[in-house]
Amino acid sequence: HPSSPFLQPGSKTRSNTLAIISLSKDNFQPITLQRSAGAADGYAEGVTLNTRFGSFPHSTLLDIPWGSQVRASVVDTGSRGRKRRRGEIEEEETPNSNADDGNDTPDSAPVRKVTVASSGFVYVLRPTPELWTSSLPHRTQVVYTPDYSYVLQRIRARPGSRIIEAGSGSGSFTHASARAVYNGYPKSETDIKGKVFSFEFHEPRFQKMQDEIKDHSLEGLVQVTHRDVCDGGFHVNGKSPKATAIFLDVPAPWEALHHLSRRKMFKGGKLDENPGDWESPLDPAQSAYICTFSPCIEQVTRTVTELRTLGWIDVDMVEIAHRRFNVMRDKVGGGSAPTNVLEVVKKLKTDIKRTQAFHKSQTSQPVSDASECKMEVDEAAPDSSVENSTRSEQPSWMQGQIVHRTENDLKTHTSYLVFAILPQDWDDTAEEAAAAKWPCGL
Ligand code: SAM
Repeated sequence: HPSSPFLQPGSKTRSNTLAIISLSKDNFQPITLQRSAGAADGYAEGVTLNTRFGSFPHSTLLDIPWGSQVRASVVDTGSRGRKRRRGEIEEEETPNSNADDGNDTPDSAPVRKVTVASSGFVYVLRPTPELWTSSLPHRTQVVYTPDYSYVLQRIRARPGSRIIEAGSGSGSFTHASARAVYNGYPKSETDIKGKVFSFEFHEPRFQKMQDEIKDHSLEGLVQVTHRDVCDGGFHVNGKSPKATAIFLDVPAPWEALHHLSRRKMFKGGKLDENPGDWESPLDPAQSAYICTFSPCIEQVTRTVTELRTLGWIDVDMVEIAHRRFNVMRDKVGGGSAPTNVLEVVKKLKTDIKRTQAFHKSQTSQPVSDASECKMEVDEAAPDSSVENSTRSEQPSWMQGQIVHRTENDLKTHTSYLVFAILPQDWDDTAEEAAAAKWPCGL
């Protein structure tokens, strides 16, 4: 398997590999870096990422350490080459400060003409499931990081785990779970340990997922199956995935639960008397942990009822209410920011009076000279240096109170998370085997 940028990114960016471009704090763009020889006339830059912060030829983004800052380039789109050939401009030498001397550049590569400009910059980041979730092309609602990080630990996903997921949707959860279960690429079919078995019944979404998994070199670790899981269950190519963890993000999870039993069941918990050679999709030697993800409480109720009927235990429900707090020191005096020097001085005075009063009430010591000084400032003849000088002389605790504000909410697909456990099968044989293994008792 080629190494996946999500799992084995190496230290530098490379061609034909996904990179996440950070345009600003919360604005990410996924791109597949491409090494190109430039357009035929020898003056075009080749594949270029155009953003509102400027143009970034892929050649300037390749073979550099992950996390690098790259400045925008003035890109010659080829028009100068055409004009030069027509004799409209003289041959000229433009410094090629972003020369791409990668080994796999063809010898015939035309000379690039790139001039670095200082207009804007981006960061080239190595792909992670979190960045992928923030930048992936949405085909459906997706599960966001605050939810999936909690889900993955509750369903005990760890290197070597085998997870069933339905539906694949946009692949947000798929990428996070692939990283969670990864324990090295399998060398053969029998060597496969950690694996994500993902199911999607919508044909175009299934196709897109297949392509993405291939592009991200996650084949072998993620297997996508085109199936309606309510009808067809969770076997893959007729075999049991032997899963210990299940995540269902489908509209009617209760319709699929009977397929996730230890013995062949019908919906509603009735045992199938003629199971044939049916094998459970769950690992018979371990307990199974499930999470279902539903936006409405009515869906939760139906899921919980079916889980109980089918013998699942420890059923509980959680809703993640994620908030991001921005903690900072407020401007002197608090409230809205002063708009002119006079206002600044007024605010300083009010603030100092308050601080002095506080200090007098705490100790008999006067407050610092610096703040006494500030009291001397003449309101009628404000000095523009007043704010800076007085503030910098103050100890930090006097420069305003600590305040916090919630940042724009990180997107979460507010849903209810239902968790449950289906214990490992236990009978007399299992009891005897356990007694033999642990003679002192469990
Ligand atoms: N968890 C996904 C993510 O993080 O990107 C989003 C899943 S999306 C909300 C639900 C997906 O389930 C849709 O793509 C839908 O086509 C698929 N789906 C719905 N019912 C299904 C079923 N019975 N079997 C398989 N897939 C199903």
